[in-house]
Amino acid sequence: MLSPSPSRPSLGKGSGLGFFAVLLLLSLLSADPALIQAQTTPIIISHRGASGYLPEHTLAAKVLAYGMGADYIEQDVVLTADNIPVVLHDIHLDTVTDVKEKYPDRSRDDGRFYAIDFTLAEIKTLRVHERTDIRSGSAIYPDRFPTDKSTFAVPTLAEEIELIQGLNQSTGKNVGIYPEIKNPAWHREQGKDISVIVLKTLTDYGYTNENSKVYLQCFDPDELKRIRFELKTRIKLVQLLGQNFKTMVTPQGLQGLSSYVQGIGPSIWHLVTGKNEAGHFNITSIAKNARAAGLVVHPYTFRVDALPPYVENYSDLLQLFYIDIGVEGLFTDFPDRTMGFLKKNGLR
Ligand code: CA
Repeated sequence: MLSPSPSRPSLGKGSGLGFFAVLLLLSLLSADPALIQAQTTPIIISHRGASGYLPEHTLAAKVLAYGMGADYIEQDVVLTADNIPVVLHDIHLDTVTDVKEKYPDRSRDDGRFYAIDFTLAEIKTLRVHERTDIRSGSAIYPDRFPTDKSTFAVPTLAEEIELIQGLNQSTGKNVGIYPEIKNPAWHREQGKDISVIVLKTLTDYGYTNENSKVYLQCFDPDELKRIRFELKTRIKLVQLLGQNFKTMVTPQGLQGLSSYVQGIGPSIWHLVTGKNEAGHFNITSIAKNARAAGLVVHPYTFRVDALPPYVENYSDLLQLFYIDIGVEGLFTDFPDRTMGFLKKNGLR
């Protein structure tokens, strides 16, 4: 029969609860940042707005996201010919607008239509529609909003910020923005400094320091360094992970990132690569190592209508990422379904 250890009297018979209380106390005293972060309320980032329901990056999609309870709403940002930051996912206009019909002779040699070749006034004449495939012209998500109904326009970054800040005033909420600087190196080749222009707009609207309700994201690590150290912004930055992510996600790589960004934006596949033969998820060490480096983890993109093959349904996917892995937030096309999950699990 086991006898209580002299150094651990609380291990004695009938004192199991005391033992767990000591464990809890010890874990709190150790002030493990991983533990503390995992206990904060996870957030919902609305990916291009409530884009599961309305054409991406339209003000309508942003209003719906706001109404569905998103904590942050995303803006992808590119520049027009007259240097106005507009909210569009691509440097091209042809997969989400009727630019081919309205300006048939304005494509470049590659046959594509570039936002940077059009003034804001010209872009404002375009009708935005649900995303289509560049070759076939058919909808990427055929069960989403019809491609030929109603009227939507390309918003400027300023118009979108005014919409969200206006709603913050009228509702008393404090929803944040989550802009992404798109293709900064390409913009520079075209003679434009997109980061300087976007930062100016953010400053004009009061996003100036680490407490501002904004995360600024980019795939380009050199540009993020420049934004932090050369352009000297104090707002929160997020390093997106794309193809060339391997050196960034080593423990040393993540420590290095933490000197200028507050979080990482990996894809779903960076964090979970699939299921093994025993039926367990293959969870990579990226989220754990990021947390150890003091970085938040905001993976993309969570879609009810495009699930990874290793889960049965959307709820299981959210369980895996929010609960099992413990991400601090995630990008979703469906903020309402995501809020439903958080409420059901007592996280709202
Ligand atoms: Ca984006």
